Amino acid sequence: MSTRVGIPRSLLYYHYYPQWQAFFSFLGISVVVSPPTNKQILEQGLANSLDEACLPVKVTFGHLARLAAQVDFIFLPRLVSVHPREYICPKFLGLPEMVRHSGLSLPPLLTPSINTYRRPDDLMAAYQQMGRALGRTEKQIRQAAQQARQVQQEYERLLLAGWLPEQAISFLQEGLSQKDRATDALPLPETGDPGRGIIAVIGHPYLVYDSYLNLQLLDKLSRRGWRVAVVEQVNSDRIQQETAHLPKKIFWTLGRLLIGAGYYFLDAAHITGLIHLSSFACGPDALIGELIASRARSRPGKPFMNIVIDEHSGEAGLLTRLEAFLDMVAVAGSRTGASA
Ligand code: SF4
Repeated sequence: MSTRVGIPRSLLYYHYYPQWQAFFSFLGISVVVSPPTNKQILEQGLANSLDEACLPVKVTFGHLARLAAQVDFIFLPRLVSVHPREYICPKFLGLPEMVRHSGLSLPPLLTPSINTYRRPDDLMAAYQQMGRALGRTEKQIRQAAQQARQVQQEYERLLLAGWLPEQAISFLQEGLSQKDRATDALPLPETGDPGRGIIAVIGHPYLVYDSYLNLQLLDKLSRRGWRVAVVEQVNSDRIQQETAHLPKKIFWTLGRLLIGAGYYFLDAAHITGLIHLSSFACGPDALIGELIASRARSRPGKPFMNIVIDEHSGEAGLLTRLEAFLDMVAVAGSRTGASA
C-alpha cells in the first residue's frame, strides 16, 4: 500500500488543496482529506484545543483527530508568509506547536515552513524538504512541484471565474482533458436566480466555505434566490487598486484581500448587499472588520452586515439577522430601482 498523507479540510485547505494534492499524487502518495466539518469534528476540536483559539483553529484539531487513524503522515505546513512583504496570521505559524502539545495522538506531522516574505521561491524549498523526508529524488520533487504549480494556477482561474472551492476541486479531480480545461468558456455554476441580485459574502475562506461553521449561510442565500459573490472572484489588480490608498499598508495577506474585495463590493453597482463573516477571537479581523464597517457607513445605500461566529452560534439567531438584512436590501433596491 502506498504512503498516505492526511490533509485537514480546514484553514487554508480552501486556498491551496489542489496544489498540495497534485504534489503528493505526482510522487505516488495517496492523499486522504478529512470529511466536511460536522458536529462530531467540532466537538473533538473543542475538546482538544485551547479555549483562547479562534473557531477555525479549534475545528482544525477535530479534523486532525479524524485523520489520525487513517494516515501515515499529516501535512500541516508552518505558514509564515504566502505573499512577498506580507505575513499571515500568527496562529498559522504556531499551529504545529499547538498541535504537538495538545495531547492528540497523531501520526508524524509534515510541517515544512513556508515563508515567502523575502524569498518568493520559498515554496520550492518547502517542497524539497518534504519530498526528501518522504524519500523522493530531487528530479521527482522538481517535477511534482511544477505539476503542483500548474494545477494551482488552474484552480485560481476557476475561482476567479465564479466557481466555489469545492466545486472547482471536484472539477479538477474529474480529470477533464487538458483541451477541455484550456477553454475560456468554463461553465459557471448556478448559484441562484439572477433576477434577485448578488450578495457579496467576504471572510476568511475557512469560514465562508465551511458550511457547518457558517450555518450554511451561502446555501441560505442561494435558496432565497440570491447569487453570491466572494473574495476569490476579485482579481489581484482590483485588490491592489482598492488598497493602494490606505494610509498604511495592510501586511496580513488575508486581511488585505478582505479589505480590497470589501471596498470593491461596496462600490460595485451589481452588488446589492455585503456580509462580512468573521470569527470570535480573531485578532486581525478586529481591525480589518472595523475598516470595512467604517467604509460601509459612508455608503448608506449599500446594506452591510457583520456576522461573528463562534461555537455557540445558533441557526435561529442567524436566520433572524439574515431576514432583517435581506429586508434592508429589498428597501435599498426599491429606492435605487434595482430588482430585489
Ligand atoms: S486570521 Fe483570525 S480566524 Fe484566521 S486563524 Fe487568525 S485568528 Fe483565526
